[in-house]
Amino acid sequence: MLLKGKTAVISGAASRRGIGRATAELFAEHGARVAILDLDEGASADAAASLATVEGGAHLGIACDVTDRASCGAAAARIIEKFGKIDILINNAGITQPVKTLEISGADWERIVAVNMTGVLYLSQAIIPGMKAAGGGSIACMSSVSAQRGGGIFGGPHYSAAKAGVLGLSKAMAREFGVDGIRVNAVTPGLIQTDITGGKLTDEMRTDILKGIPLNRLGDARDVANIYLFLASDLSGYVTGAVIDVNGGMLI
Ligand code: NAD
Repeated sequence: MLLKGKTAVISGAASRRGIGRATAELFAEHGARVAILDLDEGASADAAASLATVEGGAHLGIACDVTDRASCGAAAARIIEKFGKIDILINNAGITQPVKTLEISGADWERIVAVNMTGVLYLSQAIIPGMKAAGGGSIACMSSVSAQRGGGIFGGPHYSAAKAGVLGLSKAMAREFGVDGIRVNAVTPGLIQTDITGGKLTDEMRTDILKGIPLNRLGDARDVANIYLFLASDLSGYVTGAVIDVNGGMLI
């Protein structure tokens, strides 16, 4: 029970096979009350209702578009109203688009940057004041191995750029809010089997990819959820501004 009595907000956590959903499940198993934020209210509510029950009341599922500042503000207000405080924020929402540089339209660029990077800013801005008032907290932001390698299998160059931006934003927030007892870290997963990747890998692609992964398997959502749990809990009490690779050794 690493998160007993804590309240956690996780963006992009409604999708059934996703990293956010696996994180919500793990956090609830560790005693946290969880607010699931995702695009659809019904899917978010269903996901919240499926979590393990915890002391102190039910979880919460809220429609929130992280690219919309007002939507983030409204979600934060509802969470504070229901839970009274927020201890943990997991900026997890993201989308990909497998295109090459010369194919990226202005609208593509803006959409990918908005969800993957601007959303991290907007949701953090909405939640940090409450965290400060509560005396501290932990924020973890989703980046990607695509930011480090300059490309992935499914993300385009705009995705790599946005996820690299998340690393800078995360470190800047770590520097700025350390004094308030708020830790901010980032995770850089490799290839994790979720709806973003699932079903799109041929056997040939999989064999090829595994040649570059020393642990010789793709990741699953729990592999990343476990790192979010570490970053959210007091086990990482002296860790801030860090970037944790969860990639089976892909970058060695
Ligand atoms: P997923 O599609 O299962 O989860 C992404 C979730 O984000 C979905 O539930 C989706 O509805 C939600 N979302 C999309 N746009 C949103 C918005 N504007 N506001 C709120 N929610 C929104 O995929 P996943 O693989 O679990 O991805 C989770 C995160 O992990 C993403 O940021 C992704 O870029 C990142 N990531 C994934 C991998 C991988 O291999 N799967 C690797 C590195 C990083």
